[in-house]
Amino acid sequence: MEHKAGYVNIIGNPNVGKSTLMNALVGERLSIITSKAQTTRHRILGIVNDDEHQIIFSDTPGVIDPAYKLQENMMDFVHGAFQDADILIYMVETGEKELKDMKLFERLQNTDIPIILLLNKIDTVEQDFVKEQIAIWKERLPKAEIHPISALNKFNLDLIMDRIKEFLPFSPPYFDKDALTDKSERFFVGETIREKVLKYYKKEIPYSVEVEVEEFFDEDKIIKIRAIINVARESQKGIIIGHKGRALKKVGTLARRDMETFFQKKIFLDLYVKVNKDWRNDDKQLKRFGYNN
Ligand code: GDP
Ligand code: MG
Repeated sequence: MEHKAGYVNIIGNPNVGKSTLMNALVGERLSIITSKAQTTRHRILGIVNDDEHQIIFSDTPGVIDPAYKLQENMMDFVHGAFQDADILIYMVETGEKELKDMKLFERLQNTDIPIILLLNKIDTVEQDFVKEQIAIWKERLPKAEIHPISALNKFNLDLIMDRIKEFLPFSPPYFDKDALTDKSERFFVGETIREKVLKYYKKEIPYSVEVEVEEFFDEDKIIKIRAIINVARESQKGIIIGHKGRALKKVGTLARRDMETFFQKKIFLDLYVKVNKDWRNDDKQLKRFGYNN
């Protein structure tokens, strides 16, 4: 059989389960998942290979109105999802009323790229409601192929993989057949720390944080990592560190454990906090953190 390969881009509102789906399909915790919206800031590729297929998934930040520069750059990633996609997965959740970005929805209606619409989180509702929802989406986006799923419970995901393989164009592979992702190990280290920050602190703190991995030394029996948690204000630094440094220690411990599982190696993690005033509105800083391309 001739080889098939292509890009499958996952788009949809924040929190509908895009990262959960990608991780379930790719089989590794590539994209960080939390219950907070806007967790996913960059486009992340996850690659699934078998003898005859290479599926390159990309998970995007949720669709939001850009309120400050960071979000504008996040939306560039979303619109970029149309440019290289061979298949679009448009994910909605049960009970979702409308897209927060009408322009994006119009692009979906007008694009020639095949669309698989996934109605996610069907584990939370009755079957009749699922049927109603499918009917509504069929009317809104007639050309999409619609499937109900539960990304969390991995329900219907084998079928989705089959449908993706069906739609995939004939092509030689784009990446090595043993590649899992285009992101570096440093990137995962940064994302793991950021995930813990998102889980551990409240309110605006997580959105003011950017993690920088300064050093990553992969030695024989241990990986030595030095990372900075950048915050936007002095007051946030104190919150991150916490009373007697307990909060930061907790975050470091949790992150280290995940990294040890991921890399299957002992990790030495040196974490510290730096005030980087108003980095979210600073083009130079954003570029350094990899947001502008
Ligand atoms: P994203 O913002 O679209 O990437 O969404 P995430 O993948 O980060 O998921 C957001 C939240 O929804 C997390 O708490 C997930 O555990 C939850 N979630 C994702 N898929 C499902 C599902 O099929 N059923 C239920 N009940 N929750 C889900
Ligand atoms: Mg996400």
